[in-house]
Amino acid sequence: MSREAGSASGGTIHRCTVCGYIYRDGEAPPECPICQNKGTFEEIPVDQINYEFFKDCWTRQVKWMNATKYQNEIMLNPDEEVLKELAEAEGNFLKSGKQAYCPCRLLTGKELADRKIICPCYFYMGEIELQGKCHCSLYLVKK
Ligand SMILES: [Zn+2]
Repeated sequence: MSREAGSASGGTIHRCTVCGYIYRDGEAPPECPICQNKGTFEEIPVDQINYEFFKDCWTRQVKWMNATKYQNEIMLNPDEEVLKELAEAEGNFLKSGKQAYCPCRLLTGKELADRKIICPCYFYMGEIELQGKCHCSLYLVKK
């Protein structure tokens, strides 16, 4: 099947309703690569992506992290200005047909390497444990 080649508005993305993971490629995977739940993806038109959407995704992510790995120790950065900047940058990636990459890291242009920096990135757990926050300061350890 072709990839919505004629769609001018950037098509749709899929978002996991459990952990907030955003999946950019055509079809949603049967199982979420982050939380491993099955059948949890919902389809969202790219032109409906805005700050509120990202905040909702990140809130789900924090809730999932706190329920599974961390005992309610993680919080979303309360600084709305930081969140708005991140949402805008991540939104620009999605609107230009890319994945929801971490806007604070450098893209290599190599598919497999760059897959590691889709938010929540491959590195965030280690960073949270070592520095008390992820690289972007999106997720913080509660003081
Ligand atoms: Zn998930």
